[in-house]
Amino acid sequence: MNQWNQQARKVLKGASQSNEFFNTQVFSDHKFPIKIPLEYAQLIDQNNPNDPLLKQVLPQTSDVNSAYVSSPLNDEQYSPVDGLIHKYPNRVLLITSQVCAIHCQYCFRKNFDYTQHDALSNWLAIEAYIEKQLAVNEVILSGGDPLSLSDEKLEQLIKKIENFQHITTLRIHSRSMVVIPSRITAKLSKILTKTRLKVVLVTHINHANELSAAFCKNIAKIENATLLNQSVLLKGVNDDLDTLTKLSLELFSAGILPYYLHMLDKVKGAEHYFVTDEKALKLHRQLQAKLSGYLVPKLVRDQGESAKTWLL
Ligand code: SF4
Repeated sequence: MNQWNQQARKVLKGASQSNEFFNTQVFSDHKFPIKIPLEYAQLIDQNNPNDPLLKQVLPQTSDVNSAYVSSPLNDEQYSPVDGLIHKYPNRVLLITSQVCAIHCQYCFRKNFDYTQHDALSNWLAIEAYIEKQLAVNEVILSGGDPLSLSDEKLEQLIKKIENFQHITTLRIHSRSMVVIPSRITAKLSKILTKTRLKVVLVTHINHANELSAAFCKNIAKIENATLLNQSVLLKGVNDDLDTLTKLSLELFSAGILPYYLHMLDKVKGAEHYFVTDEKALKLHRQLQAKLSGYLVPKLVRDQGESAKTWLL
């Protein structure tokens, strides 16, 4: 078993293990199970109940709010074939894995039906669909986390995507890389270098404290990809100017450009992370005044309609 696989198995699962590790009683079990990789847990300050990394994995009971639903983006309605989401004209998204290295409590896909939507097991239908979509030039690997797949499976999938002559770009969205830095293997780097596709790797990082030395060292080994980051604006985690400024600067130091700052998707159980539009817009204006333009992520909201809404 390779190193990242071993690290992926070192996780805190459920309230009991989490309470024991953090020497606390704040964790309780909810429908969306607790899953915290040990490497990520070790970045959390055990003496700080407001640690911004802790807040992302700590389930909380929120007041019932009817605006928060099970599936806020209703992605399933844009799925002409199981395992594939086709929402924008030039790109399709593949659900490649139902597994995530970490369970983020704000996740908009926490109730997604992964058993029905598995791109790998429905590949023939997906292949037939993409072959006919000549306006599509980009395939996005999503999940779950596509880097939960082994390098071998990933390589096979990328080779299949290369066979579509009209596909020029491969985009991979992943949070695994930052929570289990050893997932950035030499083989992964080689796969991304070998492909004829232009590769865009989008990391999902919400706070500078997540940028461990191991992650920064390993991400620097990826040679053939445009590195972008998307964050979710989360109350109590990153909704202040200093935190967002530091995040942008440290991402840039790691060779990653801030790309999107997403407004929270209103999924049940995430009510306590909500930041108002007014506050988000103010923060964004302040970031623009403080940072070079290329360090200011686009502030966006996914409406669950055919296009993202740009808040600015
Ligand atoms: S890694 Fe992404 S898909 Fe997985 S739980 Fe976190 S936010 Fe959701």
